Amino acid sequence: MSTITAPEEQSVVEQTPKQLYIGGQWRDGSKGTLAVEDPATGEPLCEVADASEEDAKAALDAAVEAGPEWSQHPPRERGEILRRAFEEITAREDELALLMTLEMGKPIKESKAEIAYGAEFLRWFSEQAVRIDGRYAVAPNGQGRLLTMKQPVGPCLLITPWNFPLAMGTRKIGPAIAAGCTMVVKPAQQTPLSMLMLAKILEEAGLPSGVLNLITASSAGESTGPLISDQRLRKLSFTGSTEVGRKLMEQASQNLLRLSMELGGNAPFIIFEDADIDAAVEGALIAKMRNIGEACTAANRFHVADSVAGQFAEKLAERMGSMKVGRGTEEGVEVGPLIDDDQRSKVSELVEDAVGRGAHALVGGHARDGAGYFYDPTVLADVPDGANLLKEEIFGPVAPVKGFDDEEEAIATANDTEYGLVAYLYTSDLKRALRVSEGLETGMVGLNQGMVSNPAAPFGGIKQSGFGREGGPEGIEEYLETKYVAVNL
Ligand code: NAP
Repeated sequence: MSTITAPEEQSVVEQTPKQLYIGGQWRDGSKGTLAVEDPATGEPLCEVADASEEDAKAALDAAVEAGPEWSQHPPRERGEILRRAFEEITAREDELALLMTLEMGKPIKESKAEIAYGAEFLRWFSEQAVRIDGRYAVAPNGQGRLLTMKQPVGPCLLITPWNFPLAMGTRKIGPAIAAGCTMVVKPAQQTPLSMLMLAKILEEAGLPSGVLNLITASSAGESTGPLISDQRLRKLSFTGSTEVGRKLMEQASQNLLRLSMELGGNAPFIIFEDADIDAAVEGALIAKMRNIGEACTAANRFHVADSVAGQFAEKLAERMGSMKVGRGTEEGVEVGPLIDDDQRSKVSELVEDAVGRGAHALVGGHARDGAGYFYDPTVLADVPDGANLLKEEIFGPVAPVKGFDDEEEAIATANDTEYGLVAYLYTSDLKRALRVSEGLETGMVGLNQGMVSNPAAPFGGIKQSGFGREGGPEGIEEYLETKYVAVNL
């Protein structure tokens, strides 16, 4: 039984390629097909190709073969391909947003926001393609010259998660294309459709055969493992969980691959007593509820000055409790389903653990009955130390609120985690804002705002949230090597 409920849903799924894209050819997977389901109903949407180890090797062969020509391809033309793809994605926003909502569950409005965000990486890197430069310097002793140049890293493997099905791809594909790298892309098996459409759009935008190769697979390790141990691969860029990131680093150590690791988070959201509480509630709604709470940047825990903690929690509960939960395609829905039953069970367990230790739910606290993986927006007050959700990534619409005494305690508690992706900070005191920003052990800080993502800024973490940066002028550096020529003069 299919979940597709409207002709336009049927049409976008039908128009999406479902095969592997290797060396400019669309072809079947040697292992047959794998099912993609709609998390709002738990029913299948369609089947896509299932790649074997041999298919994955063929994809790397194609990337290696296309490498030399592509590395010499005029940067302006590399940029223009990206620019054309940006225009096409933007023009087809409605159709692409519907496809994304069907496979991932988020409301259409949020899918549109991701389409715009994802497309912007292609525009940004279309502009960066023509700004790759080097240096010419006189040696300190005056007797020679030091020439440095930037060259593409070479064939890359790009592995992406399900939570942002398009943007997690364009953040890697954009700079790789701009830098002159070729690649094998492996999207998450739960959300391959947006990436398959992106491959088709890039093909139509004139990307030469073999530059981008896409494999979908039911066994990620079986298909990508042999590529990671193949000496022709030069770089692995991974976005996903810290657990899988660790495994991949271990595998990549064999060939000392260049690595970029965008991993898990446990973002603290700190509110001082001098903050504008209404603005903090607005920021909290974005930081917590964007993507149904399934974002690496999602506010995982709210640390609020004792004097305003109760007021903040009440206001947040009122707003979260009034959000409409439902299938992302329905009018007015603000909260879609979680990705699958495992994810929903994990959220339920974390809430039960916190409540069992003394937290109380101001709103929500339950999974919804019926089809799909829905969980009610939840605010937990008086969350005690030791509750698992303060330590673990929740990845769902649950906001734990905890009070703090003073600035020193706020910083110490915020930093008390193995993760270091992003922190949010609300205060009207400029000196405190800078002091606390400097004290936070994260790669990014949202200062009086609930969202940091911006294609023109370096996105990335420290500690066990990984390393490397995506976006900004830094983003393309991940795909470039620096070569130095010692010039005898
Ligand atoms: P995941 O389980 O780590 O999977 C991510 C990707 O890795 C998927 O394509 C997955 O394939 C693949 N994979 C899994 N095991 C693998 C293996 N042994 N070898 C090679 N590839 C493997 O993460 P997820 O559940 O999809 O995504 C959620 C996580 O991503 C969260 O922790 C979130 O914080 C993190 N994330 C981080 C950022 C960031 O920028 N820091 C952004 C978004 C998400 P399958 O689909 O086949 O499992």
